[in-house]
Amino acid sequence: NRQILLASRPQAAVTPDNFKLVETPLAPLGQGQVRVRNHYLSLDPYMRGRMSDAKSYAEPQPLDEVMIGATAGEVVESNHAAFAVGDKVAGMFGWQEYGTSDGAGLHKVDDTHVPLSAYLGAVGMPGVTAWYGLNTIIAPRAGQTIVVSAASGAVGSVVGQLAKLAGCRAVGIAGGPDKCRYVVETLGFDACVDYKAGNLYEDLKSATPGGVDGCFENVGGEGLDATLARMNAFGRIALCGMIAGYDGQPVPLAQPSIILRSRLLMQGFIVTEHMDVWPQALRELGGLVAQGKLQYRETIAQGLENAPEAFIGLLKGKNFGKQLVKLI
Ligand code: NDP
Repeated sequence: NRQILLASRPQAAVTPDNFKLVETPLAPLGQGQVRVRNHYLSLDPYMRGRMSDAKSYAEPQPLDEVMIGATAGEVVESNHAAFAVGDKVAGMFGWQEYGTSDGAGLHKVDDTHVPLSAYLGAVGMPGVTAWYGLNTIIAPRAGQTIVVSAASGAVGSVVGQLAKLAGCRAVGIAGGPDKCRYVVETLGFDACVDYKAGNLYEDLKSATPGGVDGCFENVGGEGLDATLARMNAFGRIALCGMIAGYDGQPVPLAQPSIILRSRLLMQGFIVTEHMDVWPQALRELGGLVAQGKLQYRETIAQGLENAPEAFIGLLKGKNFGKQLVKLI
């Protein structure tokens, strides 16, 4: 069983030598256990936080253990009544080819109408993140304008499409013309601002003629500042991520006084603390994907050995849509 361990903690940017590839023999399967061949590994920005031992909402990933992560795969051996060989499952086996479990945290998934990989993206944790932040924190009404950053990504792409389905004007912020074109033409947002084009505030102003009622923030920094400056009174901000600061860079707010002047509500959240909404959110998201009403895109690295490089790319915005590693 090939595995990738956390070998050391990054000082600033993650480097390949923070990881170590090892091969460990698989132990015989015990009573009540199930063995899964992982087909896909999900790479997510939160993993950067776990690599560090700074104080956070979650415990750090221990050194010399398999890197944490969500996986989707197929049962290949089972001594567990609830799982049969051939079942497709989503779990949290981390960066390794095989996972062994007593069934805790393992969920059967149906890949007839929803592809297996989507259970790590639009119909998995990133999709629920979008659903939760939009529906419970922003709670938009038809006709309102919603801005989302990292708009072409796993979370952002779902936020904008759900906002459109709710009758809102959806405006994305993304890096580069290709991502922006995709956000408008394929995902169906009303507009997308390319923050790399150098005219962020003016471009966002043109894209939001009626101001902004809801901000779904994934990045922090200049995009957040520009969006706050466009917010209407009593607007709401779902603070989902601040990836611009994950390597330790400060991401200050340029004008916090806007929160007071515009009487804004800003709420941070961690999706795994709201497990009560997951069944409903996953049902809705799965239905939308199966009906072709929710589009998503994936960037897929091939082979476990390429996971570190793909993860480093994700933290630099090289991914275009949900970043996965295909193991088989
Ligand atoms: P994405 O698929 O959106 O990938 C990350 C994207 O962030 C990049 O592709 C890049 O897109 C964008 N980005 C913008 N600025 C930077 C920067 N300075 N450095 C690196 N990337 C940048 O990832 P996810 O959809 O998985 O996650 C989006 C956000 O949601 C993250 O902040 C993540 O931590 C957060 N999150 C929070 C959760 C919660 O419970 N609160 C749960 C899940 C995710 P571009 O090229 O357009 O800039």
